Amino acid sequence: MNTVRTAVRVEGVVQGVGFRPFVHALATGLGLTGLVGNDLDGVFAEVEGPAAAISEFLRRLERDAPPLARVERVTTTAVPPRRSAEFVIAASDAGSGLRRTLVSADTATCADCLRELGDPADRRHRYPFINCTNCGPRFTIVRDVPYDRPLTTMAPFTMCERCAAEYHDPADRRFHAQPACCPACGPRLSLGDAQDPLQAAAELLRYGRVLAVKGLGGYHLAADAACEPAVAALRQRKHREDKPFAVMAADLAAAAALAEVDEAAAALLTSPARPIVLLPRRERAEPGAAVAPATAPGNRQLGIMLPYTPLHHLLLAAVARPIVLTSGNVSDEPIAYRDDEARETLKDIADAFLTHDRAIHVRTDDSVARTFRGRPMLVRRSRGYVPEPITTATTTSFPRPVLACGAELKNTFCLARGRHAFVSHHIGDLENAETLRSFTEGIAHFRRLFDIDPQVVAYDLHPEYLSTKYALELEDVDLEGVQHHHAHIASCLADNGEEGPVIGVAFDGTGYGPDGTIWGGEFLAAGLAAFERGGHLAPVPMPGGAAAIRQPWRMAAAYVNDPQVALRHPDQWSAVVTMAARGVNSPLTSSAGRLFDAAAALLGVRDSINYEGQAAIELEQLADPAEAEAYPAGLEGGEGPFTIRGSDLLHAVIEDRTDGVPAPVIAARFHHGVAALIEAGCLLMRERHGLATVALSGGVFQNLLLLNATVGRLEARGFRVLLHGRVPCNDGGISLGQALVAATRVAASRS
Ligand code: ZN
Ligand code: ZN
Ligand code: FE
Repeated sequence: MNTVRTAVRVEGVVQGVGFRPFVHALATGLGLTGLVGNDLDGVFAEVEGPAAAISEFLRRLERDAPPLARVERVTTTAVPPRRSAEFVIAASDAGSGLRRTLVSADTATCADCLRELGDPADRRHRYPFINCTNCGPRFTIVRDVPYDRPLTTMAPFTMCERCAAEYHDPADRRFHAQPACCPACGPRLSLGDAQDPLQAAAELLRYGRVLAVKGLGGYHLAADAACEPAVAALRQRKHREDKPFAVMAADLAAAAALAEVDEAAAALLTSPARPIVLLPRRERAEPGAAVAPATAPGNRQLGIMLPYTPLHHLLLAAVARPIVLTSGNVSDEPIAYRDDEARETLKDIADAFLTHDRAIHVRTDDSVARTFRGRPMLVRRSRGYVPEPITTATTTSFPRPVLACGAELKNTFCLARGRHAFVSHHIGDLENAETLRSFTEGIAHFRRLFDIDPQVVAYDLHPEYLSTKYALELEDVDLEGVQHHHAHIASCLADNGEEGPVIGVAFDGTGYGPDGTIWGGEFLAAGLAAFERGGHLAPVPMPGGAAAIRQPWRMAAAYVNDPQVALRHPDQWSAVVTMAARGVNSPLTSSAGRLFDAAAALLGVRDSINYEGQAAIELEQLADPAEAEAYPAGLEGGEGPFTIRGSDLLHAVIEDRTDGVPAPVIAARFHHGVAALIEAGCLLMRERHGLATVALSGGVFQNLLLLNATVGRLEARGFRVLLHGRVPCNDGGISLGQALVAATRVAASRS
């Protein structure tokens, strides 16, 4: 039989995911000889044997790849046979050169490890740090590449003989599992002087105490989710007034006892990324499955996640009921991740610390997701997803390395090269020194990890954003300012692997407009390189500027402009109405977020907020799902961009309120009114620009009632609708859009 030899190169996420043992097993199973190894570009192999066996090898190489691997490209070359006698694993090549290989994301404990965790005969029985090549910490422990133990925070732990034997055995599940360890050689759990930290932790939780728990990407604060005094104490000590807490439930059944879990939500909950999934709360929780009111006050939704580390599995089993698990921080500060820092900042919140001695290298928050029409949609893309790249279509690649600095709130940055856009973990609101430090350190870390030295730097046009200031101080790079809402739409295009042009509907709270007003209710004719503002909500004054964001009643005053409809003390109301009318400290805005705020205030939902988007979120919760009527809004189109009068919706709200229409019905009619005005705007855009695809982006579309109504109306009119999925529609997705816009512009200017 004819013996041939083929050199194979595999690119993608193929290191630290058990790829070499997989190749070894596959080749030996087919009777092939040769070798496999890691280098800076990924995995290389040579296989020798009958041609038919080699084709079979190549077929199964992609089809049967290990669960965490992501094969992006396989290339083969014929090489002369060497009459090799066996199949071997070659030593790692950590030489210099490009570090194109991809670090994988942190991954939930796999089924094999879980089985060992619960097996009294296994040497890792009940060991809180069990992991293997298919699961465990990755991104959060990697200091540098290539991904090897000495360059992770596992470096201080010297493997015992048995772990080392597994680590070096190609047939073992822990072959080259960098964080592999056991009770004899690995990290240890502690809780003060407790003999059994886990048992002590469970007892404290059951006694209603607040516990700090060191997780994968930072410290959490935990409390018994059913215990109102415990959750209320946590809220009060954390200075968090209303924003819902997430809950960790032991398994799908426990989650389903608290909320409605459909098939898509179940898939998301149990996915290796294990995000917090926002789910419709059960109207009446099953007996014994109630969550304390302080967990998510007045909220129809509940954020639930399942255990994703062995420690979580053990803790949940010991407590035997759901726990609140929220980020370990005070109010809006970033989550604590260093031990000394956590001890300091959480000392007045936590009654005890369940911690361990494996360091966290990169602070990484839990991801947050939801489903829409059976499809996952990320609200916050972080732990479990990052640093997996968003791979773009070939034509929209990054010929020159790009850094995009993102926006201000919910900041992420993005480094891109070739076809890969590496959107960072959630950095947070760039408003304090600590977040700014995560931002700059994060950029430095990503540059090292992915060996990207940016030549093009994209930034938001807002001159006061710290991300903008950071960009403008960089030297020897091409700077590209990208309008905020253009970035939103480009992000939605990238999310869908499209290039446009499309009708971009960007509805959000705030974005800097090139005309000096604040944009946020925009209809753009947009491609990746450029956009034209086709229409927008009619601008209104924001009396008091930022104060109008914190106090939605001010927006109601500005919009309604009527002393008869005073929502508070007539003096205060008329002062603000006058302020708006005279334009004193009242920047103009076309923001859709502010329109929602005004409606919420008029309905008495809330006249001041204590977290971003709160008024709109509560207005959505209030709305009667059975009501389908829509308030009409006038559209004015002449030369230039058309405008839509949001104030029409608010006058309808007032009228219905005066007529005694129930608030839930009014809230629903308002939502449908916004969907109808989007429909009207898109129809005019189609007429004027000849575009039939609509991309929806901006934080306002986190509102599922609005999104559902909007998509329904647009599809009924024959539009193709693009939505976000892999990156958030809020400002967390901005950096990806900026990167695409900048890269496209630079490429266009060069050709
Ligand atoms: Zn595992
Ligand atoms: Zn060991
Ligand atoms: Fe935005």
